[in-house]
Amino acid sequence: RAKADGRSVYRFFESQMDSEARERRLLEVELRDAIKNNELVLYYQPLVSAEDARPTGFEALVRWNHPIRGLVAPAEFIPIAEQSNLIVDIGDWTIEQACLAAVNWPEHLTVAVNLSAKHFRRSDISVVVKRALAMSGLAAPRLEIEITEGLLMENPEAVVEKLGEIRALGVTIAMDDFGTGYSSLSYLLKFPFDKIKIDRSFVDASSDDEVARDILKAIASLGKTLKLKITAEGVETQAQAEFLSGIACHQLQGFYFARPLDHIDLPHYLLTHVLPQAPALKAEAEAK
Ligand code: C2E
Ligand code: MG
Ligand code: MG
Ligand code: MG
Repeated sequence: RAKADGRSVYRFFESQMDSEARERRLLEVELRDAIKNNELVLYYQPLVSAEDARPTGFEALVRWNHPIRGLVAPAEFIPIAEQSNLIVDIGDWTIEQACLAAVNWPEHLTVAVNLSAKHFRRSDISVVVKRALAMSGLAAPRLEIEITEGLLMENPEAVVEKLGEIRALGVTIAMDDFGTGYSSLSYLLKFPFDKIKIDRSFVDASSDDEVARDILKAIASLGKTLKLKITAEGVETQAQAEFLSGIACHQLQGFYFARPLDHIDLPHYLLTHVLPQAPALKAEAEAK
């Protein structure tokens, strides 16, 4: 009797479990198989020099090519992966794939990989980076690690130490989504960053908000003082691009220049935007 009651109570809660939670649980189960089944894919979005709009490298952005759901955005599955060790598997896979891809690009191009701070806590990330560099043959200065400030404070000491180890290899460390967290400035003291990527919300607001433009100017001059490279993300218009290069941002990224490219569009982009310049650059070098 008591047993039957217990079951019906369980069923009651089961049916009350909101669809969102059930959806998450299902996604987590499916995500476990996604890497094994080759369902994760990397798209590559160009970063360009603010000076001449030439590509300087690409950022690897993960998508989940789900057999039924189609292309799932990282915002939908990275937070789920972060709740388990899946984030380690995804991060390890992403670094390896990105290094293997970049080694085939012209040598002046870099590749940036997003890593979750949770990954740092759960595994020895510097070993993973070393292994990926050695396995691919990619030179360390061509690799960048992007880490969002939002998750850093959960375990600052461990993260500082690991970031220091990775940086000592010659890898660039960037703070992603700069300005969106609560303590962006104090992070600059604590963590060994080479570069900050200004969050696209500031770039977006800059179009019709003078305060946003002033903040961008202040960040650019802060970067100069601290000798940090400044990248602005989410550039969608020519006016934004002109403003940002006018305040001496180093790199720009956004739909105005290019969207994240898949394995078909990427080679085409390299052919049309990178390779045609190679002979010209070589001719210049030979003329000297
Ligand atoms: P993020 O690292 O700040 O990446 C930039 C995001 O902004 C990308 O979204 C990109 O597609 C989008 N974006 C770029 N230019 C523009 C623009 O001009 N306008 C607008 N509206 N959006 C633009 P995506 O690919 O959906 O990635 C979202 C976030 O998911 C990333 O933000 C990053 O934090 C995370 N993420 C992506 N790939 C990975 C990964 O491999 N590992 C981890 N841990 N996180 C990842
Ligand atoms: Mg990023
Ligand atoms: Mg970013
Ligand atoms: Mg962002």
